[in-house]
This record gives sequence, C-alpha cells and structure tokens, in this order.
Amino acid sequence: KLGNETLKAELGRASWKLFHTIMARYPDAPDADERTALQSYIHLFVRLYPCGECAEHFRLIVDKFPPQVSSRSAAAAWACHVHNEVNKSLGKDVFDCANIGDFYDCGCVEDGKEAV
Ligand code: FAD
Repeated sequence: KLGNETLKAELGRASWKLFHTIMARYPDAPDADERTALQSYIHLFVRLYPCGECAEHFRLIVDKFPPQVSSRSAAAAWACHVHNEVNKSLGKDVFDCANIGDFYDCGCVEDGKEAV
C-alpha cells in the first residue's frame, strides 16, 4: 500500500511539472487554434489521467473552475488555482500563485532562436 502511495505521488509530481510548464510556455496572445489546443489538452489530461480516483476528483474541480485559455497568465493562474484545490483536499500547503512567474522554466530555446 505504501508502494502504491509512493507511485501515485511520483506520478502526481511529474504530471504537475509538465502541466504547469505547458502553461508557462503557452502564448501571451493565443490564436483560436492555440486556444482550442489547450482546451483539448486539458480535457484529455482530465479524462486520461492514469490514477482513476485522482482523475474523477480532478474532473469535479475542473467542472467547477473551467479552464482559462485566453492568455499565458490566465492559463498559468488557472492551473495554479486548480492544483491548490487538490492541495487543499489532500491537506497540503497552498502555493502562492503570485510567485509562479519563472518557477516553471523549461530551459527551452525560444522558437526560431539560436541556443545561447
Ligand atoms: P505536488 O502537489 O505534486 O506539487 C509538486 C510541486 O509543485 C510542489 O513541490 C511545488 O513546488 C509545486 N506546487 C505546489 N502547488 C502548486 C500550485 N498550486 N501551482 C503550481 N505549483 C505548485 N493524490 C492523491 O492522493 N489523491 C488525489 O485525488 C490526487 N489527485 C490528483 C490529481 C491530479 C490531476 C494530479 C496531477 C495529481 C493528483 N494527486 C492526487 C497527486 C498529488 O497532487 C501530488 O502530486 C502528490 O501527492 C505529491 O505531492 P507533493 O507534495 O510532492 O507536491
């Protein structure tokens, strides 16, 4: 049972890292196609998240707080908020979303630019 909890937590940490990093790289001014893409990604993330009880629980949170895809800052703030809803339900500390700025830096080269 402890093993299962450890694996569930590892999956959660890896998933949140990817989730928030995607938001941090989302355009400031997304076009319609980019908005649809993020909306779809979130929908499928919720639907396909491999921990069934987590997915079911997260679906209720996302139903209550619909995804915000209008800009990078809106998407990042939304993701921070829904992660905090999960944190609260698990009795964890709430993350200060004002500090999310450069927290999720992927170390990627900007599109179309040379690596420095
Ligand atoms: P995590 O919550 O994994 O966070 C990782 C790191 O992200 C933190 O160390 C911190 O640096 C940063 N962080 C924390 N809060 C925020 C925030 N609000 N915004 C941005 N960054 C933040 N586990 C269960 O036991 N039951 C569940 O029902 C459940 N549902 C889940 C649903 C989803 C969609 C996901 C992705 C995970 C779920 N988990 C669930 C796993 C759980 O959320 C944690 O990932 C796991 O317990 C490990 O917690 P942690 O304390 O290491 O930090």
